[in-house]
Amino acid sequence: MPIFDFVCTSCQHTFEVLVRGSQVPACPACGSEALEKQLTLPAIKTSSTHGQAMAAAKRRDKIQGAEREYTQRQYELNHDD
Ligand SMILES: [Zn+2]
Repeated sequence: MPIFDFVCTSCQHTFEVLVRGSQVPACPACGSEALEKQLTLPAIKTSSTHGQAMAAAKRRDKIQGAEREYTQRQYELNHDD
């Protein structure tokens, strides 16, 4: 669940909010939706590390799948006479 830091451009109030889907957050102090999203480094690092881990896992699965296919093909070639 992504938590973002926002700064209200109307009253400069800074707050954290949990954003679900396309929900538009509003300033809890003045109710304005004129907000600027602040980039919070720890959250970006976490999601990027997670993305890289997922990509690495997918790559590994693909390589293992190709190796299995190759082994199977070699087996069939050697036992097809
Ligand atoms: Zn505000």
